[in-house]
Amino acid sequence: MPGLLTRLRDRFTLILFGAPAPALDPSAATETDIDMMRRALSLAQIAAEEDEVPVGAIVYHTESGEILAQASNRRECDADPAAHAELIAMRAAASHLGDWRLSDCTVVVTLEPCPMCAGLIVNARVGRLVFGASDPKAGAVVSLYELCSDRRLNHRIEAIGGVLAAESSEMLRAFFRGKRGNGA
Ligand code: ZN
Repeated sequence: MPGLLTRLRDRFTLILFGAPAPALDPSAATETDIDMMRRALSLAQIAAEEDEVPVGAIVYHTESGEILAQASNRRECDADPAAHAELIAMRAAASHLGDWRLSDCTVVVTLEPCPMCAGLIVNARVGRLVFGASDPKAGAVVSLYELCSDRRLNHRIEAIGGVLAAESSEMLRAFFRGKRGNGA
């Protein structure tokens, strides 16, 4: 009876760890979100070709679907520890809008944001976040921390995870496989 087992496990998890982590429900993504994620994956591919960890991001106006900014990870190219794709895209979008508040925007990124980027998402009061693969080593939306839904912070974000996650994970795996193959 898998149904009963699942319910028992969920109950047990709730008792042990409190409220469950925000669910990764990729089915909540809109067609626009998925289209934007495809573009973000192309940007991630560009990063990989420049020997950067393949992560891509788009910021779009939620209502109109207009792309305000896009970026890929540039940490190596710029020798900048803060040059994560979604951080660059959020700053560019704010500059484009002439407003640091991104409440009317959706941030789409191929990998779960790290603490720095999730922090900026909160500070920029981003309206929605859509991400691809989870990052068990640095993810700060569902994996290690839940910064985007932490009630102690002054802003909470609607987050949808797992969108085209397989494509993103495969790109990251291939990149690190290649690195190991090169003896790096
Ligand atoms: Zn980051």
